[in-house]
Amino acid sequence: MKRLVVLGAGESGAGAALLGKAKGFEVFVSDKSEIKPIYKNVLLNNAIEWESGQHTEALILNADLVVKSPGIPDTVPLVKALNAKGVEVISEIEFAARYTKANLVAITGSNGKTTTASLTYHILKQELQVGLSGNIGNSFAQQVLEQDFPNYVLEVSSFQLDGTLGFKPHIAVLTNITPDHLDRYNYQFEKYIASKFSITKNQSEDDYFIYDADDPVIEANLKNFSIKARLLPFSLTKTVENGAYYKDKHIIITIDNNKITMPTTNLTLEGNHNIKNAMAASTVAQLLRIRKQTIRESLENFQGVEHRLEHVLKINKVNYINDSKATNVNATYYALESMDAPTVWIVGGQDKGNNYEELFPFVNEKVKAIICLGVDNEKLMDTFSSMVDIIIETQFMSEAVKIAYKIAKAGDNVLLSPACASFDLFENYEDRGRQFKEAVRKL
Ligand code: ADP
Repeated sequence: MKRLVVLGAGESGAGAALLGKAKGFEVFVSDKSEIKPIYKNVLLNNAIEWESGQHTEALILNADLVVKSPGIPDTVPLVKALNAKGVEVISEIEFAARYTKANLVAITGSNGKTTTASLTYHILKQELQVGLSGNIGNSFAQQVLEQDFPNYVLEVSSFQLDGTLGFKPHIAVLTNITPDHLDRYNYQFEKYIASKFSITKNQSEDDYFIYDADDPVIEANLKNFSIKARLLPFSLTKTVENGAYYKDKHIIITIDNNKITMPTTNLTLEGNHNIKNAMAASTVAQLLRIRKQTIRESLENFQGVEHRLEHVLKINKVNYINDSKATNVNATYYALESMDAPTVWIVGGQDKGNNYEELFPFVNEKVKAIICLGVDNEKLMDTFSSMVDIIIETQFMSEAVKIAYKIAKAGDNVLLSPACASFDLFENYEDRGRQFKEAVRKL
């Protein structure tokens, strides 16, 4: 019996353990922290051996195969020891993909993964049997085990890609590449870029690679990765022969001689970045032969994803918008770009070495007040105080929202788009977004 060791007992680890057990492995799960009760119960109910609070090397180094949580860096001594012994260390995505024959659509990028994956799924599910998994919702492994679908839309992070060997999506989407998570890549942007491009490393001529042709990093690197898949670019600014582009408030997608034109005026999602996400998702749908009418209708009735430019409430003719998932500057760039009225901007959190320069034009043009909310307020105050009349700092969400309420006038927006990580004052970005919404509802 082969021994499978699963490192990290979160959603993906618990799923991998279950699939491993069903496929005849002797499974051992090891988590250095406390395991959440819901996953502990999964292990107990399925008689899977586990430890928590430590990694016992003697029980791990004898593995035939290791599935590692994306949260564990490759540089920790345990992983190095496994590598030195020649034990295969893979991600849950790679493991699960070995046990399904499904058609895989894999979506990666620095920003826009969840939105594009959710929108793609929303369109495809109208006509196909399809699952949505990966970095979103339920574990891919558990899905494959419990109800395998003939098609999957997978949101894939760079850490998950780093643990792939044979992973071969039929359609790969790369939404954009901006510096993020560089602490995990030895502060070398090239390594992070290579990780993102590895989504296409096993693709063949029959597969497709959809990417943002306006992204300078992607454009500059396309030639460095001998891509075999057929290239389908999308662009807001230039016409493409095969792929998608934007002209006169329409998305035009051409694949060989098959063409579809869709107005963007009725899109529920706002902002240029969402036109890009819509182009990527519709190109996937077109490749999978979804009817044109279905694609058009689905784009118009997609309700968006929580914490991404989510409209919360309108109070006294002021729009309150929750973009808590904007955990980096680029995401906030698109949020500010899409603001169509004077904006009270709530920003801040844990700074990741942010450079705010690209936001200056929007701040000058649209932002009437800034409320800094987080541990790294000082940098924000220094950067923006000369640009806006009102800049205030706080460490409390409820206070931030009350201040915004006092400043905003009819017709304004109040936007939470932090451009920073959330772990200073909140559990995670979801918690930050929920606290914002709660505070808004209490006004
Ligand atoms: P991810 O899953 O990659 O983190 P999300 O879809 O959750 O991406 O969006 C994260 C943040 O980035 C949100 O604030 C959202 O408004 C913004 N965003 C969404 N799509 C894009 C895009 N194509 N380019 C840049 N920013 C985007």
